Amino acid sequence: MRKKVIAGNWKMNMTPSEAVELVNTLKPLVNNPEVDVVFCVPAIDLIPVAEAAKGSNIQVGAENMYFEDKGAYTGEISPLMLVDAGIKYVVLGHSERREYFAETNETVNKKMLKAFEHGITPIMCCGESLEQREQGVTMDFIRQQVKVGFQGVTAEQAKTAVIAYEPIWAIGTGKTATTQQAQEVCRDIRACIEEIYDAATADAIRIQYGGSVNADTAPDLFAQPDIDGGLVGGASLKPDFGKIVNYK
Ligand code: PEP
Repeated sequence: MRKKVIAGNWKMNMTPSEAVELVNTLKPLVNNPEVDVVFCVPAIDLIPVAEAAKGSNIQVGAENMYFEDKGAYTGEISPLMLVDAGIKYVVLGHSERREYFAETNETVNKKMLKAFEHGITPIMCCGESLEQREQGVTMDFIRQQVKVGFQGVTAEQAKTAVIAYEPIWAIGTGKTATTQQAQEVCRDIRACIEEIYDAATADAIRIQYGGSVNADTAPDLFAQPDIDGGLVGGASLKPDFGKIVNYK
């Protein structure tokens, strides 16, 4: 049985003091031991959020990370910094980073390898555009993202990874994929992992759905056999996130 993992992606929201206030508001609302709860927050909020979350079930994740340990990479944040700050997860390859910051499958792969090297759990995002869905190439595109993203990752490492299936057309648009659409793609991503590795790895890896998840849509989505939780943007900044974490 895979434990559900429900992660909030705060994107570029919340100043450090707002962040601490939000953690204090959400802490009692997201206290569900049956679910891994992760707050993925802007770099400047990582330390205050980790501090505010101490003693709760909230784990903290970064929204990005560079693929070198240190050096002349102005503006980047390294895995060593994340580990030292007690950060357990990192979102990699979010579609906004791919679209606005030239993230590619190859850089995502380098970051995946680095994250595993330092014991940070990657939440690797993949997902098609509306045009790709209409052209019928959704899985061709996603298979490429997954296959390149996991290049050089061992089966043992892959078993601990999280993949977030996020159709681009559903992110921040209020348009959630139907439960059936989300389940189908998550099932096919699991089959792709089985092809790369084996059945045991496919069975262990956790696959989230993301894209305008809210308290109304979460119960049905998370009840699907291949959907192991969600990556939640807008709704993770509101008390509603507590309802999503307690979706049952
Ligand atoms: C996201 O940021 O990954 C996301 C899915 O956002 P939203 O829930 O707002 O669509």
